[in-house]
Amino acid sequence: MSLTFDAIIIGAGIMGCSTAYQLARRGLKVAVVEKTHIGAGSTGRSSAIIRQHYSNEFTARMALYSLRVFQNFDDAVGGESGFTTTGFLVLVPERDVEGLKANVAMQQKVGIRTEIIGPEAAREYMPALEVGDIVAAAWEPESGYADPNLTVNSFADAARRHKARIYQDEPVTGVTLGEDGIVRLESKRERWEAPIVVNTAGPWAARVAQMVGVEVPINPCRVQVAFFRRPPGHEAPHPVVADFINATYFRDETGGQTLVGLIDPSEADNVVDPDDYKEQVDNEFVLDVGEKLVRRYPIIEESESTGGYAALYAITPDWHPIVDELVPGSGFYICAGFSGHGFKLGPAVGVMVADMVLKESEPQFDHRFFRLRRYEENEPIRGAYEYSISG
Ligand SMILES: Cc1cc2nc3c(=O)[nH]c(=O)nc-3n(C[C@H](O)[C@H](O)[C@H](O)COP(=O)(O)OP(=O)(O)OC[C@H]3O[C@@H](n4cnc5c(N)ncnc54)[C@H](O)[C@@H]3O)c2cc1C
Repeated sequence: MSLTFDAIIIGAGIMGCSTAYQLARRGLKVAVVEKTHIGAGSTGRSSAIIRQHYSNEFTARMALYSLRVFQNFDDAVGGESGFTTTGFLVLVPERDVEGLKANVAMQQKVGIRTEIIGPEAAREYMPALEVGDIVAAAWEPESGYADPNLTVNSFADAARRHKARIYQDEPVTGVTLGEDGIVRLESKRERWEAPIVVNTAGPWAARVAQMVGVEVPINPCRVQVAFFRRPPGHEAPHPVVADFINATYFRDETGGQTLVGLIDPSEADNVVDPDDYKEQVDNEFVLDVGEKLVRRYPIIEESESTGGYAALYAITPDWHPIVDELVPGSGFYICAGFSGHGFKLGPAVGVMVADMVLKESEPQFDHRFFRLRRYEENEPIRGAYEYSISG
């Protein structure tokens, strides 16, 4: 006997849980089927930076919508997200100044609080910054970071309050598209069916798509982050920084630490088996990223290295997600491939996917911007920068 629902979500990351919440609050009987546990994929290891700096208006609008949710999380979703406002700085060299100006002008039009500032003004927000090589910066006072595990569990709880069921420790092993319009799923122990199924399996999404014979260009790629405990006198939180010159991003972390990762297109080359990769950080990575961080934030020279870890991005050819019906008319959808910058968009993504599967005539965010066919149409989403996850 199959368990029957109106909609089933495969994968309990931020995209799956946000989508489950949006569908359940609209009155659908929803199930989420998760391989391991809530937040076990990219979401639970996310740096969870929440900024609005994007090169395209559509994603900038999604980021702004989501920021408002993070700022009012208890009212909008319920529970906590751990959102902390620190402000966000983008630091650019000469070659990116025109792109930065165009992006900031577009973002201001969308309603985002952001402005172009000079290097010395950047030091007012973060006095310990080295700014000699910076030509311009953008400042977003409302941005910051959240706690990804708190956030995803709050979305899961919110979905449950609207009667969604969340099955954990249940890897989906088979998907069948019925001629009767019903999508059937199976795991080793259980069977489910629904007219709407959404694959939000993140770095595993291409594998789940292969279960119905469809290839999608989403690669699981290993990426790393490292932590440094700042020296005495520098415990106070600092803003989030995207440093295009040293190709790093960094933010404050609890315990007076700084978390740092790379903004590097070559991370797309580190394709791994998502079930079998080295989860420990490499010593060479800590040394390399530490040197880059010291160039921008010299007090890190006196810091203590406190480790790091490796995790997965789900990367597409243009570093933007695929949100679409996988097989037209089948009821089997995909929402994956957020390429290292999806966490902040999670609240808006739930709304977008709910509108898509319910075929809303005036969707708040039209998923076709992220349609699968854009690659064969040779219309990938293009950004103003060459820095991959910057969007
Ligand atoms: C180190 C790191 C730093 C990041 N920093 C940021 C940041 O600062 N800001 C930002 O916005 N984004 C950031 N991201 C990206 C962001 O975290 C991801 O885009 C987002 O979490 C993706 O969510 P998801 O729900 O699509 O995927 P996931 O969180 O990976 O969820 C997919 C789920 O599907 C489950 N699953 C897989 N296969 C199956 C199956 N067969 N059956 C059932 N379940 C299955 C998995 O177990 C998993 O729980 C970062 C990511 C990483 C790794």
